[in-house]
Amino acid sequence: MTKRSLADLEAVRLDGQRALVRVDFNCPVKDGQVTDDTRIRAALPTIAHLREHGARVVLCSHFGRPKGTPDPAFSLRPVVDRLELILGAPILFLESLDDGAIASTRRMPRGSVAVLENTRFHPGEEANDPAFAQRLAALGDLYVNDAFGSAHRAHASTEAVAHLLKPAVSGFLMEKELRFLGQALDHPKRPFVAVLGGAKISGKIDLIEALLPKVDRILIGGAMACTFFKAMGLEVGNSLVEDDRIEMAAALLQRAGDKLMLPVGAMVGPMLAPGVTTQVVRRDRVPPGWSIFDIDPRTVKMFGAEILAAGTVIWNGPMGVFETPPFDQGTLGIALTMAAATRRGAVTVIGGGDSAAAIAKAGLSDQVSHVSTGGGAALEFLEGRTLPGVAALDNA
Ligand code: ADP
Ligand code: MG
Repeated sequence: MTKRSLADLEAVRLDGQRALVRVDFNCPVKDGQVTDDTRIRAALPTIAHLREHGARVVLCSHFGRPKGTPDPAFSLRPVVDRLELILGAPILFLESLDDGAIASTRRMPRGSVAVLENTRFHPGEEANDPAFAQRLAALGDLYVNDAFGSAHRAHASTEAVAHLLKPAVSGFLMEKELRFLGQALDHPKRPFVAVLGGAKISGKIDLIEALLPKVDRILIGGAMACTFFKAMGLEVGNSLVEDDRIEMAAALLQRAGDKLMLPVGAMVGPMLAPGVTTQVVRRDRVPPGWSIFDIDPRTVKMFGAEILAAGTVIWNGPMGVFETPPFDQGTLGIALTMAAATRRGAVTVIGGGDSAAAIAKAGLSDQVSHVSTGGGAALEFLEGRTLPGVAALDNA
C-alpha cells in the first residue's frame, strides 16, 4: 500500500502549522559531541521543506537505551547543538513534555525548529502507550514520520501518535526508503540478484526464505556460507558455523537448486588479527585449525559477473570480516562491482547496518542507487513483514 507523503500535502496544509516530525537522531556521540551526523543530515530535506513552507517544525527522536526515565547520558543535547550548527538557526529544546512545552510550540515563529528531549525518557514510548501518544500529539497539528530506521518498532512516537494526529504522512527519507526497497521487491528489473552475507545464518533465515521465490539468483558469502559448506560435507576448520542450522541449510540447498550460489574458495587465516598470515584456498581445502574470514578473488569474480548482469541487486551482509584487513578485500570487491553495476543502469540497494558501514568505508555510498538508513527495519521490510510505523501512516 502506497503511503501519503509530505510531498502530497498542499502548501496551505503546512503554512503556520506545527509539524511533529519523528526523526532518527540516534547518532553516535562521544564526550558530548556527535561523531557522525549522517542521520541528522538524512532528515534535512524534510526539515527544509517544512521550513520553506512556513511550518513550525517540532522534531522528536529516541536516543540510546535509557530505561524509560530521564538520564543525562542519553540527552539529545549534543544533537541539538549539531543541528543548530548545520541549520545556522537557534533551536528550541523542549526538555520536558509538560503543558509549558506544549504551549511554547504554539508560540514558535513560522519556519522555526524545536527538538523534544529523548522520547525514551518516558516509559510510555516503548509501551506504545495511548496517553503518552496523546501528549506527543499535542505538540503538532500534523505528523510526519521520517524515521525509517525505527519504523519496525510499534512505539508511541512511531505508531500510536500516527493514529491521533492527522494527516500522518511519510517524510522524504521515509518515502525514499519505501520506494527503493519496495520497488526492488515488488517490481524488480530482472535479473534480480540478492547478495547475502554477515555473521549468522540464523538471523537471516527469514530473509533467505522471503527472497528465494522472488529473486533469480541468491549469492551467499560471509560466515553464513560456512554453515552451508558444512551441510555439503566440507571441512571448514575453525570457521564460524551454527551447528543447529546445518540441517536447515541442507534443506535450503535442496530447495534452491542452482538459484543459490556459494563461494568457490576462501581467504583463510590462523586467527583473526590485522595483517595476519593468510592463504587463498579452494573451499574443500580449508586447513585444519584455520578459519574462513573472507571470500576469495575467484568468488569475487564469479559473484561479480552475476551482479554486473543484474537489473536489480539487493545486498545485505558483508562478505567477510571487513573490519579487520586484509579480510575486507572480498567486501570491497563486491562494493566496487555494485558501483560498476549501478553505472551500467542496474538498481542497487544496500541494507543492513554493517553493510552500510562497509560501503561507506569503501567510499562508495553515493555510487549505488540507495543505501538504506534502517538496519533492522530494512531487514524486516525485505523479509516481507509489515512495519508498524509505516502501516499507521495515511494511505495515498
Ligand atoms: P548487517 O548489519 O549488514 O545486516 P550482519 O550484522 O549480519 O550484517 O553481519 C556483519 C558481521 O558479519 C560483520 O561484523 C562481519 O565481521 C561478520 N562476518 C562476515 N563474514 C564473516 C566470517 N567469515 N567470519 C566471521 N564473521 C564474519
Ligand atoms: Mg549487523
